[in-house]
Amino acid sequence: MAKSISCHDAGKNCDWSANAPTEAELMVKIEEHVKAEHKEIELSPENIANIKTLIKEI
Ligand SMILES: [Zn+2]
Repeated sequence: MAKSISCHDAGKNCDWSANAPTEAELMVKIEEHVKAEHKEIELSPENIANIKTLIKEI
């Protein structure tokens, strides 16, 4: 089972989505996207925990 996330699911007006074989690999992609496109989102442990709740299995 792969892991998937989309910015739409986070309530963002953004068409980005990504998937990866593992949560750890997906988190790398998410962090790159947040740093590039959502600089207002701080990658604090609390926010990372919230982001992880949005990850789906596909
Ligand atoms: Zn986005």
